[in-house]
Amino acid sequence: MDNGYIPFNKPFIIGKELYYVAQSVLSAHTAGDGPYSRRCEALLEERFSVAQVLLTTSCTSALEMAAILCDIAPGDEVVLPSYTFVSTANAFLLRGARLRFVDIRPDTLNLDETRLEEAISDRTVAIIPVHYAGIGCEMDAIMPLARQRGLSVIEDAAQGVNARYRGAYLGTIGDMGAYSFHETKNFICGEGGAFLTHDPDFVRRAEIVREKGTNRPQFFRGEVDKYTWVDIGSSYLPSDMLAAFLYAQLEHMDEITAKRQRIYAAYQAALQPLASQGLLSLPTIPGHCEPNHHMFYIVVGDHATRTRLLAYLNQRGVNAVFHYVPLHTSPVGQTMGYRRGMLPVTEDVSERLIRLPFFYELTESEVSRVAELIAAFFAGGQAGA
Ligand SMILES: *Cc1c(COP(=O)(O)O)cnc(C)c1O
Repeated sequence: MDNGYIPFNKPFIIGKELYYVAQSVLSAHTAGDGPYSRRCEALLEERFSVAQVLLTTSCTSALEMAAILCDIAPGDEVVLPSYTFVSTANAFLLRGARLRFVDIRPDTLNLDETRLEEAISDRTVAIIPVHYAGIGCEMDAIMPLARQRGLSVIEDAAQGVNARYRGAYLGTIGDMGAYSFHETKNFICGEGGAFLTHDPDFVRRAEIVREKGTNRPQFFRGEVDKYTWVDIGSSYLPSDMLAAFLYAQLEHMDEITAKRQRIYAAYQAALQPLASQGLLSLPTIPGHCEPNHHMFYIVVGDHATRTRLLAYLNQRGVNAVFHYVPLHTSPVGQTMGYRRGMLPVTEDVSERLIRLPFFYELTESEVSRVAELIAAFFAGGQAGA
């Protein structure tokens, strides 16, 4: 298997996924909010000590729910990093928000909290920290600033499920949080996500918004005698068949995280010599952040080296990839008046970062092969201009 192709990602099963999916089908409750959805939500609420978790069809839809719950009106501003996935921005843009992109820290690649103050105006209503690679943003700086300025904090914790910042689980620190269970994340069900909040007002409204703007959840609890249209909303709840799959994954959360930690450590040990020689840099994990080992990335010296190293690895069967095209320099970002040069750290990192294959079933020998190829690339002088 040693010379086989190594994909970037590979979905996996670890326990009773297929059995639970069959149970869900046979139980004749395959729509949303069924028994497996409830089990997933209860497990996450208890484990992460959060008042309410609602499964959603994706992290994207959880973010859209958060944007609705913030009552964003056209012209309101939200502050977010540009170095992120498009959904962080689209959820708010759909409500008519103006996007204020801030630069990232060069160490964790998270939103630079020292840049927030200058990005906040009279129109700002929310800050959207994105916990890149499952490493917590500096919430100790972000939360007090948000409280002082009366802003909501919505954590994009798509990559941060089961990771902690000063002991608190990511996604449970701000006013609302959003998780992803997409097949590229740590715990998966194909497409899926969750909305999290502690706030009792949001709790009540979130279940309405998720159920097409109806009070159907209250009807099922017997709190109202008929259900009707009470708010705006959409269909943000996943089938219980997907929740069944997810529940099996959540039952093995510790095992999945421990395995990912071993993969991470193997990459780290194998690539440390190259980092010591100054050929590349490895991820930074601050001591107060307990990671979930969502990804392993390296940052090489310049864009040309990255292009050559990606080609070198992919030609040899290793599907290493890069991301993100910064949102502020994308076609949509440019229509908002953003230009190259405005967010230098984001632009620099986005041209030099490489994500290495990382998934539950990746073996130590596959990690060694990836690392050896990277070493061979640099030893062969391929890195020069
Ligand atoms: C994966 C990801 C999303 C989107 O998650 P979906 O569940 O696919 O909608 C949003 N934000 C970040 C930072 C992500 O990594």
